[in-house]
Amino acid sequence: MVAIRTRSRIGPSAAGGSIVIPIAAPLLADEEADAARAVVLSGWVSQGPQVAAFEDEFAALVGAQHACAVANCTTALQLALAALGIGRGDEVITVSHSFIATANVIRYQGATPVFVDIEPETYNLDCARLAEAITERTRAIIAVHQMGMPCDMAALMAVARRHGIAVIEDAACAAGSQICMNGKWEAIGKPHGDIACFSFHPRKVITTGEGGMLTTSDAELDRKFRLLRQHGMSVPDIVRHGSQRVIFEEYLLVGYNYRMTDMQAAIGRKQLERLPQLIAQRRALASRYAELLGNIEGLRLPFEPAWARSNWQSYCVRLPDRLDQRAMMQSLLDQGIATRRGIMCSHREPPYAGTVSRHDLRQSEIAQDHAILLPLYAQMDSADQDRIVDAVKRELAR
Ligand SMILES: *Cc1c(COP(=O)(O)O)cnc(C)c1O
Repeated sequence: MVAIRTRSRIGPSAAGGSIVIPIAAPLLADEEADAARAVVLSGWVSQGPQVAAFEDEFAALVGAQHACAVANCTTALQLALAALGIGRGDEVITVSHSFIATANVIRYQGATPVFVDIEPETYNLDCARLAEAITERTRAIIAVHQMGMPCDMAALMAVARRHGIAVIEDAACAAGSQICMNGKWEAIGKPHGDIACFSFHPRKVITTGEGGMLTTSDAELDRKFRLLRQHGMSVPDIVRHGSQRVIFEEYLLVGYNYRMTDMQAAIGRKQLERLPQLIAQRRALASRYAELLGNIEGLRLPFEPAWARSNWQSYCVRLPDRLDQRAMMQSLLDQGIATRRGIMCSHREPPYAGTVSRHDLRQSEIAQDHAILLPLYAQMDSADQDRIVDAVKRELAR
């Protein structure tokens, strides 16, 4: 394997010429480049045999009956809502505290997002507050496994089933995360709700540049995803292409072009091979952070419940209230260390001003304003991690 680039080549270089430690870095190498090259030279580059193989391998990895690849997780989430028939007049409960795509897909469908607050320990939807948000219009819940930390699916499903509400898991960040259900460890994506949606953006644990996946146990939903992602076409182009007989396709519904390419899928298959190792490295780094940053007055480390195993897509620490988040992030950046502020809150962005929520979103706002994400990527070495820890400790001691 060639040397893997772990340093960002873009962005500011810090004073004194030291190199920036990026917030994240995808692990892509010769294996992925060779796989993409083979597809380029194969004569079939759009959705085809590589996408089909990637779907099968992804389904096997998470223990799902069906997996359908799409262009990204935003389109996956939209297709999940569309396949469930959710549209105008319907309410969909989710968190404001998430990347804005989680809320946007509800709007794409003409439905109304209803935001609930998060629990401060896991940064995930507070299931104890779900009931307050449910009305006779509620059709679905989008449960986010934020930063790869599994959401409490046992508690959430109990409420959802009682009210007959569909559950979509926004597992954008959660490839490789696990949850213990009825005494058994299972991969996120089995799924534990009706549909789970994944992202393969470079900021996630495995990447195809852009890419997404839907998993479900429901053959009918899977059939709808496949129609919707490809213009509603009754026969995919690859089938027509390979047929000895003339086939006329039909367009059964108003679909989209949300396909993944075979080049992306070929890269994704190599990334899946790496996933167990990537997670082992990330988990080791996360526990080392916990060891080195534990027992610091006022600093709250991320909490992993006994029934959850995070893939640690991000490592989020809550700063003491007295510290200025932006000033601390700037000071770390000046020392060559990139961080990010806590996860955004959609209700504070212009498109969602005045959005319905049936209680205040205090914990969501506190998390955005007082948490920061520290760098974490599989190929980070302990010297880099020590540098980050030392810098954070110095800031906290000020
Ligand atoms: C990244 C992300 C998305 C969007 O994924 P894309 O593949 O970039 O469309 C959606 N939800 C969450 C929680 C995310 O982190």
